[in-house]
Amino acid sequence: MSTESFGFQAEISQLLDLIINTFYSNKEIFLRELISNCSDALDKIRYASLTEPSVLETGRDLYIRIVPDKENKVLSIRDTGIGMTKADLVNNLGTIAKSGTKGFMEALNSGADISMIGQFGVGFYSAYLVAERVQVITKHNDDEQYIWESAAGGTFTITLDTVNPPLGRGTEMRLFLKEDQVEYLEEKKIKDIVKKHSEFISYPIQLAVTKEVEKVSIYRYLFGREHVLNEVEDDEEVAEEEDAEKPKIEEVEDDDDKPKEKKTKKIKQQETTNEELNKTKPIWTRNPQDITNEEYAAFYKSLTNDWEDHLGVKHFSVEGQLEFKAILFIPKRAPFDLFESKKKRNNIKLYVRRVFIMDDCEELIPEYLNFVKGIVDSEDLPLNISRETLQQNKILKVIRKNIVKKCLDLISEIAEDKDNFKKFYESFGKNLKLGIHEDAQNRSKLAEFLRFYSTKSSDEQISLKDYITRMPEVQKTIYYLTGESLAAVRDSPFLEVLKQKGFEVLLLVDPIDEYAITQLKEFEGKKLVCVSKEGLELEETDEEKAARDAETTAFSDLCAAVKEALGDKVEKVVVSNRITDSPCVLVTGQFGWSSNMERIMKAQALRDSSMSSYMASKKTLELNPKNPIIKELKRKVAEDKADKSVRDLTYLLFETSLLTSGFSLEDPTSFAKRINRMISLGLDVDEEESEPTPAAEVPAASEAAAASAMEEID
Ligand code: ADP
Ligand code: MG
Repeated sequence: MSTESFGFQAEISQLLDLIINTFYSNKEIFLRELISNCSDALDKIRYASLTEPSVLETGRDLYIRIVPDKENKVLSIRDTGIGMTKADLVNNLGTIAKSGTKGFMEALNSGADISMIGQFGVGFYSAYLVAERVQVITKHNDDEQYIWESAAGGTFTITLDTVNPPLGRGTEMRLFLKEDQVEYLEEKKIKDIVKKHSEFISYPIQLAVTKEVEKVSIYRYLFGREHVLNEVEDDEEVAEEEDAEKPKIEEVEDDDDKPKEKKTKKIKQQETTNEELNKTKPIWTRNPQDITNEEYAAFYKSLTNDWEDHLGVKHFSVEGQLEFKAILFIPKRAPFDLFESKKKRNNIKLYVRRVFIMDDCEELIPEYLNFVKGIVDSEDLPLNISRETLQQNKILKVIRKNIVKKCLDLISEIAEDKDNFKKFYESFGKNLKLGIHEDAQNRSKLAEFLRFYSTKSSDEQISLKDYITRMPEVQKTIYYLTGESLAAVRDSPFLEVLKQKGFEVLLLVDPIDEYAITQLKEFEGKKLVCVSKEGLELEETDEEKAARDAETTAFSDLCAAVKEALGDKVEKVVVSNRITDSPCVLVTGQFGWSSNMERIMKAQALRDSSMSSYMASKKTLELNPKNPIIKELKRKVAEDKADKSVRDLTYLLFETSLLTSGFSLEDPTSFAKRINRMISLGLDVDEEESEPTPAAEVPAASEAAAASAMEEID
C-alpha cells in the first residue's frame, strides 16, 4: 500500500491554522458545508446521467447519509455523488489555492464570521472546526477508491484504499472528532442542525439511528407454535432496515395476572435504521400562501450559503403556453466577488420537472442581474438538455424574459421601503447602471431605480422622478455633471449659472454613471444634458439671448487672440453662458468623452489606445465676459494685439481651467513653475534667488491682482 504525502498550499495551511485556533462557538456550520458539498457532488452525477445513463451503474440511489459512531468518536458523512479521482483529490483538497482562501482570511481579520466560509468556496476546511483528523474516502467512476487524510499541520496524504468496504461511487468524509466536540454524535444535535441549515437540500439526508428495540414472543400453547408480535410501533420514519444486530434474548416471566397458558419472551435488539431528515417537498412546488418568511429564509440560506436572511423574495409560477415555477431572492449585500469575471456564475438553479439540471446556466438571467439568486423549475424543457442546445432554446428565452420582469417587480417592491432600498442600492446600484447600459428593453424601467446626488440635496440621493417634480416650469431638460468625487464637482464652475437660475444639477460620481447616462439619453421625455459639454442651451430669456449675442460680438477679438495663443490645445474659444464667477471653463464636444470619461479611460491600463484619438475630448474654451480678468485681457488685446503677456496669461488660465473642469495637466512641471513665479511675486522674493526661468516661459497670472504684477515684469 503506497501512501503519497503532499504539502498544503501555503494559504490553505494558514487558513487551516486559523480555523483550528480561532475561538469560535458556532462550530455546527461544518455540517452544513459538508452536506452542501455532498449535494453538489450528487448534482454532478445526476447531470452527467442525463446524457450518459450508464454513469449510474455504480449506484442508482442518490442520497446523503450521516453515521455517528460514538464508540470511536467518528462522524461519517457520505454521499453517492460523483466522487473524486486521485487528481481531483490533489487539486480540490489542498494543493491549489482558490481566490476565496485569501479573501476569507482577510474578511475574518476585518471581523467577518467563520460561518461565512461557504461563500468563499473553502467550506470543506470547516471540518477542522470539530475534527482533529479528517479522512475523505472517495470513488469516482473513472478511478480507484482513495483515502485522503490530514490532521492539518501542513500536510495531507493520499492512499489507494484497500482497507475500507467499497463505496461503489461517491465520497465518505470521516471526521475524527476532537475530544470536546463529541456532542456532534448525538442524534438530536444532528437532527437540529440539519433541520436548521440543510432542510431544503433536494436529496434525502439520512441519519443512521440505532435503537434498542424489544420484541416479545408469545408462546401459545394452545396452538403449539410461536407467534411473534412486534411491540414497537412501526415508525413512519423508519425507511429501511439494515444491519440489524444479532438479537440478545432473555427469558422473562410474564406478569402474574396474565393467563398462565400464555408465556412471552422479551428480546432486546440493536437496530440501525436510516431516518430521512428532510422530507419536506420542494418549497417552490408549494403554495406561496402557506410558506412563512422563515421558511423562505431557510431555503435561501441553504441555496446560497449566505449567513444572513434575504432582502427580498419573489415566488411565482407561469402557466399557459409554457409552464414553470420560480423563486427569486435578492440578498442583503453584494458578495465579495460580484464582478469577478472569471468566476462561474451559479445563481439560478435550473430544474426540469423537479430534477436538478444545472446551476450555471448563463442563459437564464442577464449578467447585470448576477446578484439575484434562486431556482427555476420548468415543465417544458427536455430532461437531457445539453449546454449547447440551451443557448438556442426558445423556452429558455421566454423564461429569461419573465425572470427579468419579475426581478424588476421585486426591486420595485423593495423600493417601497426607503431604508431597504438604500441598502439595496448601495450593494447593487452598479448592477442597475450596468443594466441601463445593456438592457435596452428595460432601460426606462431601470432608470426609475437610479439615485443620484444633486446640487439641491445634501447627503441624500434622489431619483429622476424626484428631480422632475422639483423642476421649475421654465426648465426643459435634466442637467447632470459627472466627476471623480462629490468634493470635486460640488463647486464646479460648470454649475454657476445653473445654480443662479435655480436649476438642480445631478452630480454623477460613480465611474459607471457616465456609461449608463450616455445610454439612457432621456427620462420620461426629458433629455439628459451634461453641463460640461458643448451646446448647453439653458432656458434663456430673449433678453439673455440678446445680451449674449452682444457679448459674443464684443469679445470676438479676444476669442480669436486666445485661440491663436493656445493653438491646437483647444478646438475653439467662445463666450460662455454657463459661468458667472470663474474666468473660463473647458467644455467638451457633445458626442465625445467628457473630462470625467477621459479620466476613466486613461485609468484603464489595458485599453486599446486607438479609440482615444477620436473620442478624446475636443475642448472648447469658454470665456466669462463678466469676469474682471477676462475684461482686462480684452482691454489689453484691444490696445495691442501682439501683447506678449496675453499669450502667457492665456496659458495659465487654460491650465487652471483644465483642473477646474476635471482634466489632468499635460505638463504639470511648467504649470508649477508658472505658479511658483506667481508666489515669488506675491512674496516679493528676488527673482535671482528663486529658480531661473527660461526666456520662453515668461510667468503668467491666475487672478486679476496678479495680472497687473505681470505687466511690471514685462
Ligand atoms: P466549494 O464547495 O465552494 O467548491 P469546498 O471547500 O466546500 O468549496 O469544496 C472544495 C472542492 O472539493 C469542491 O469544489 C469539490 O470539487 C470537492 N469536494 C468536496 N466535497 C466533495 C464531495 N463530497 N464529493 C465530491 N467532491 C467534493
Ligand atoms: Mg462547498
